[in-house]
Amino acid sequence: MIPFVNLVAQRNLYREELEKAEARVLDSGSYVGGQEVQNLENELAIYTGVHHCISCASGTDALELALNALGLRPGDEVIIPDFSFISPAECVYRLGGVPKFADILPDTFLIDPADLMPLINEKTVGIIAVHLFGQTSAMEILRSIAKSHGLWLIGDAAQSFGAKRGGKHCESLADITITSFYPTKPLGAYGDGGALFTDNADLADKLRKLANHGARSRYFHELNGKNSRLDALQAAVLRTKLKHFDEELKQRQKNAEKYNQFFSQFPNVEIPIIDSENTSTFAQYTLRSKDRNHWLNIFDQAEIPTGIYYPRPLSRQPCFANLSGQMKNSGAARACHEVFSLPVCAFTDVEFILSQLKKKL
Ligand SMILES: *Cc1c(COP(=O)(O)O)cnc(C)c1O
Repeated sequence: MIPFVNLVAQRNLYREELEKAEARVLDSGSYVGGQEVQNLENELAIYTGVHHCISCASGTDALELALNALGLRPGDEVIIPDFSFISPAECVYRLGGVPKFADILPDTFLIDPADLMPLINEKTVGIIAVHLFGQTSAMEILRSIAKSHGLWLIGDAAQSFGAKRGGKHCESLADITITSFYPTKPLGAYGDGGALFTDNADLADKLRKLANHGARSRYFHELNGKNSRLDALQAAVLRTKLKHFDEELKQRQKNAEKYNQFFSQFPNVEIPIIDSENTSTFAQYTLRSKDRNHWLNIFDQAEIPTGIYYPRPLSRQPCFANLSGQMKNSGAARACHEVFSLPVCAFTDVEFILSQLKKKL
């Protein structure tokens, strides 16, 4: 069976460099934080053009740290797209906040800025824009809405590290942007990991402390923080993969283009639509079809793996059942019934996949 993300092929290609980097850390005696992690943070800041990069233990932790740093309090309301991975809503809820679910745009699956106004009231404190499947939300509109209502804006770039909007890296377009280094994300480690990006020095200082038991210097705890650190081995792996990252992005985009050409000939399936301001990292290559089951069957017979991101709107998850007065988001509901994703990483052989598929069509 073809792997959905071919991490073994990636490791084989970079093996020599990776093993060198891994040995450097294992032989150094320094395994959490330290120079390797600092170097990674510097390189990520340079890559994205953002002033401060703070690494941490996961993308989910990064969201929680960001909410802490921005001062989320129990009862505060935060606007989140209804069609997303659960982390943003989960983190708001765990800190006592109330997720308010906005609908998505029907073409890009990103949060619909026009749906925000009815959700904003005196309890609203912020917006989390999820840059889903690798493309950036309409940050210039979200920023102006946030500004005029005194709200903060977080970008969730767990799927879109390296994506640009209007020529700028998505990590530079919010008060704080987070990303994830979960192994199957576009830039993945060999375990959990995450990072936060901000141009605001005060927020950066706070985030650094929060991720390290609230302390800047050892045993002097200014804030009530936690342990959320990246280990040096993951940093070394990420630094190695970062060197090849732009090349990989190009290959992902080429793969997506090959799929686009093939699937445009079928009337009952829609290829991904990329906003003209955006470049996409294609964290997922996501098709949509009213005949999804028909397509899933064919892929199944051709032994090509598919994924459904996501089968259920967040507002209809059992864990949020007690949130009263959630509105029905028809765009999110429709997407949940129609989307399915195909393997698209830099090491996916799209020609082989399409040749297998043709035999079953
Ligand atoms: C993967 C993901 C996260 C969480 O990242 P972890 O590192 O797995 O905690 C958050 N948001 C989105 C949109 C994601 O896809």
